[in-house]
Amino acid sequence: MRLKCEVQVTSRQLPSLNIRKPNRPNFSQVSIGRKPGECNKDGPIYLMLCTSQNRSGTKYLIPNNLVQIFSRFVSEGKATLRIQTPPDDVSLSKADPAQLQSFLKLLKMAADGKEFPERVLSPLVPAATAQVTRPVTNLIIDSPSNYPMSFPTTLQKLAIQHCSLRRLSLKVTALTSLSVLDLSYNNLTELPESFAALRNLTYLDLAHNSFEEFPSVLASDTFCKNLVLLDMKDNEMRTLSPEFTKLSVLQSINLNCNRLRYLPERLGLMPRLSSIHVSNNLLELLPCTLVTRIFHKADFSDNPFTLTLPPGAYLNQKQRVPSLREAAGQAVLLYDIPYTEEDLDFVSREFLESGHYCTCGRVVFRSAASDILTHTLNAVVHCGNDDLPFLFYCCSTALITPRSYICQRRMRTHFWGMPV
Ligand SMILES: [Zn+2]
Repeated sequence: MRLKCEVQVTSRQLPSLNIRKPNRPNFSQVSIGRKPGECNKDGPIYLMLCTSQNRSGTKYLIPNNLVQIFSRFVSEGKATLRIQTPPDDVSLSKADPAQLQSFLKLLKMAADGKEFPERVLSPLVPAATAQVTRPVTNLIIDSPSNYPMSFPTTLQKLAIQHCSLRRLSLKVTALTSLSVLDLSYNNLTELPESFAALRNLTYLDLAHNSFEEFPSVLASDTFCKNLVLLDMKDNEMRTLSPEFTKLSVLQSINLNCNRLRYLPERLGLMPRLSSIHVSNNLLELLPCTLVTRIFHKADFSDNPFTLTLPPGAYLNQKQRVPSLREAAGQAVLLYDIPYTEEDLDFVSREFLESGHYCTCGRVVFRSAASDILTHTLNAVVHCGNDDLPFLFYCCSTALITPRSYICQRRMRTHFWGMPV
């Protein structure tokens, strides 16, 4: 069995001999096996450390020689092996936690003299150069002349900037270990379906490209659960699809310098969103769900705010009695009752999707009260005007006036005591 990780060997004799030897962690291949030529299956088992400086490896006898395994931080990919002779502590780090756990389990069985299948042992032969070379995890390509023929599969951070990319290569979407991808300063207009394969991606920079709409592939389950930061500043976005609000762990969005007129109504209901930048757009109104949030940073400066109603919106100063269809629709959405195309006809499905959002997150329909009111956004760092225009919908029976723009339900649950 083999493991690739950082290894640091510390001699326990050094302090007593007053020798200070520089010791840096080395990328190593760690193997458990028997020495070559030992045909006897009962031959002793060794631990072998191979590095780029010493590909032939250092061997440690395991039975009756491995004193202790410190495995408290195995979930972080770290462990330490205390060897009796020579008196060394072998510290393993940056290992795959699952592989390290299996490795330590085998090591413990070998140390205790327990039986295990012979096939799990590795031949203790010198390592090839590729096996002890530290994998490339970061790569920055900043001009077309630097664009490589192929990418190392071990990449975790990749930046491809100023390369005039119009399409993203399958070679990039095959890099499933990527957690940070910077594709800024290109000419991208869309992302391929294969982009969904980047299941570890948490930071995505698409700034300074030519996107006209939110790439639908980013609404896939992969990104809804992982994507933390999305930068789409300086694109040509005219609309931001409601699918965007599916990104449930997104903390920061930058949409500066686009052509957005409206934002999705559910924007303020995104649970982790703490930083929002939408300056230099064509915004006319903001969704009321934003007023119930406290942002770390918010920037809505340099927008015209001409108070034009978005498509499908309406103003209705008093709440009316909801129709039976509206009441049923609210119940379906409130209790999240699943439905398919077989359950509901097209008109009913379209009706359910035509609702608007109250500050409390409830969906309301035409009978709800609604109004345009100015409000100060709650943000630690807030750029632009204090008073911004919001289109409010109210699920409760309270009239919407400048002094009571939060629905009664929201006041009871979250804003009790707050001046309104
Ligand atoms: Zn409400």
